[in-house]
Formats: sequence, structure tokens, C-alpha cells
Amino acid sequence: MKFSENSAQAVGYLRQSIPMMVKHNIVPNPLNYTLWYSYYSKAFPSLNKELDKTVERYGTCPPYISESLFFKHISKLDNDNKEQLVNFQNAFSHLVDHLSDSMDHTAQQTNSYSQALMENLTELGSHGVDDAIAPVLNKLSANASAICTTNEEFQGQLSAAQAEINTLKAELENSKKEANTDPLTGLYNRRVFETIYNQFVADKSNHDNITLIMMDVDKFKIFNDTHGHLVGDQILKFIGQMLKEECKDPILPVRLGGEEFALLCPRLKLKQAQLVAERIRVKLALVPFSSKRTGEKIPPVTASFGVAQKRPNDGLTNIIERADQALYAAKNAGRNQVKLAAN
Ligand code: GH3
Ligand code: MG
Ligand code: MG
Repeated sequence: MKFSENSAQAVGYLRQSIPMMVKHNIVPNPLNYTLWYSYYSKAFPSLNKELDKTVERYGTCPPYISESLFFKHISKLDNDNKEQLVNFQNAFSHLVDHLSDSMDHTAQQTNSYSQALMENLTELGSHGVDDAIAPVLNKLSANASAICTTNEEFQGQLSAAQAEINTLKAELENSKKEANTDPLTGLYNRRVFETIYNQFVADKSNHDNITLIMMDVDKFKIFNDTHGHLVGDQILKFIGQMLKEECKDPILPVRLGGEEFALLCPRLKLKQAQLVAERIRVKLALVPFSSKRTGEKIPPVTASFGVAQKRPNDGLTNIIERADQALYAAKNAGRNQVKLAAN
């Protein structure tokens, strides 16, 4: 595995990346962060060579080169290296949290310090001082007041920076969410599906108590041809919403792509998952769809289902394959039905 850094190392790489980007006037966007993070983690020696050459030649890394280097070296990450992206996101979150906390602390400290200074000076003045000390005290007082003003300005800047950090954090959260969510249905995507599956099976105490339901909308090509792609999209959206409502924790519905969905059922045995699939199948087939535009009735939309429970040596690919075979059997048997894979 190319990236094996822990969280502290990952934060370290980011800390090196940011000044580097600032120094060379490189826009701090996620692509560049990833590029320079990879540079400091030395994950791709050939990337480092090219980046060094680029910076030497241009004094910066022009956006089009950053982009091409990113796609050449990084975006072709294999499964193992996806960990790097997760690490990167975590490190970035961590760093932003840390920065935000220390800014808060600094602002509070400097504020109370300058307030105390002003109070002491005022108190000193109120005791009556001799002529020799008065001008010194006045000067001190003026200086202290200037410090307070500078401090206020500084605090203003800190607050602005903090607001910016908070926006950045929100954007980061958003981009994390976007990377995990299918935009049409709002369901999680294959990536989350794989992560949750792997997490579940990594815990040996769960044994093989996990079942997968594959769901595929029937004759959807004909549906699109008849009613149009936009109406087709609305149906997929509806199905997404329905799956969210029907799948109570721990069942996780995801859109695998196209008109294919998967329901990951941790802690459910084959027969229990069969009931879930059956309930969803019936519910969908009974929805009275009609065209929003013409009000015309649309014939029932149905789906076929294949269900497979994990066997002792099944990897994710095996269980998907077996659920897919059961789904295929459901299609062959006439669609709008649930079939089980043999255990
Ligand atoms: P089957 O019952 O055998 O599954 O038939 P099918 O027509 O559903 O299967 P096929 O794989 O031949 O076609 C899938 C269709 O799903 C093709 C494509 O038009 C449609 N589809 C895939 N993704 C989307 C999407 O995002 N929106 C819409 N509207 N249609 C989609
Ligand atoms: Mg399909
Ligand atoms: Mg289909």
C-alpha cells in the first residue's frame, strides 16, 4: 500500500503543503491540496520529480499542469490507495479544527491581557502621581491604548479568518457528502456501500450475518423510450425516497448506478432480507404513477430482486455475484419477483 500514514503524519504533510502553496502562489483548492499532500508524503516519486521541475521552471505550478499531474499520478488510484483520500480529508478536517481552536484561545488571551493593562493604568492614574511620573504614565497610557486598537484590529482579522475556516469546513463536509451521495436519488453510492460492508465484516464477532439484496427496475429502457428520460429520472428519485423510508437501520440502501440499487442488510439472515425485498417489491408495484404533465396513468413500475447471504469465505465480489445471479433468475422467471441465492 502506498499510503500508510497515520493521522498525525497526515497532518504533518498538510502543514508542509500549505506554506509551499502560499509561497508559490498556488491556489489552495482541493486538487492542489491533494497534489502537494502527495508530494510531501512521497507517495509517487515520479510526481515529485515532475513537480520539482515545474516549480523550478515556472516559479509556481500553473493550474493546467496541476490538473494534468493530478490525473496522471493520483486520480488513477486503485482501491488500496483510496485510503489516502480518506486520510487526506481527515487530516484536513483535523488541521482546520486545530487552527480554529488555537485562534479562539489566542484571541481570548490577548483580549483579557490588554483589558487588564488598561485597567491597571487607569487605577494608577487615579491615585495621583507626581509631575515627573505623569508624562511617562500618559505615554504608557497612549501606548497601551494603541496596543488595544491594534489588538482589536487583529481580533477582527482573526474572526474573519475563523469565519473563512468555518466556511471551508462546511464546504469540506459538503464535498465529503457529495463524494458519498448519488445526486439524483440522494442515496449513498457504491463507495459507502463498500466501506460499510468492509467495516461490518472486519468485525469477526458479526460472523456471516450479513445479506445483500440487489434490486433492478424492470424493463426500464422501454419505460424511458415510452415516457421520456425525465419521467424515468422522476421514477428513480421516487424509488430512492421509498427505499429511504422502507429501510430502517441497519439496512443501508444505495444506488449502484443506472436503475440498479443494493440494500445492504447487516445482522439480517437470508429469510429476513427476503421479507424486506418482498415488502418493497409489492409496495413499488402498487404505486399509482401518473404523468404530471398530462395526468395520464402510467402502468405500474416493477423491480426484480436477488438476495444472497454472506458465506464464510465470501468477499464482497462473491456476494454481489451471487445476489446478481439470483436477480438474473428473477428476471428470467418473469420479473417483479424476489429470488434467493443458495447458501
Ligand atoms: P431489465 O428488466 O432486463 O432490467 O430491462 P431494462 O430495460 O431495465 O435493462 P437494460 O439494462 O436493458 O436498460 C437499463 C435502462 O435503464 C437503460 C437506461 O435507459 C435506463 N437508465 C439507466 N440510468 C438511468 C438514469 O439515470 N435515468 C433514467 N431515466 N434512465 C436510466
Ligand atoms: Mg440493470
Ligand atoms: Mg433493469
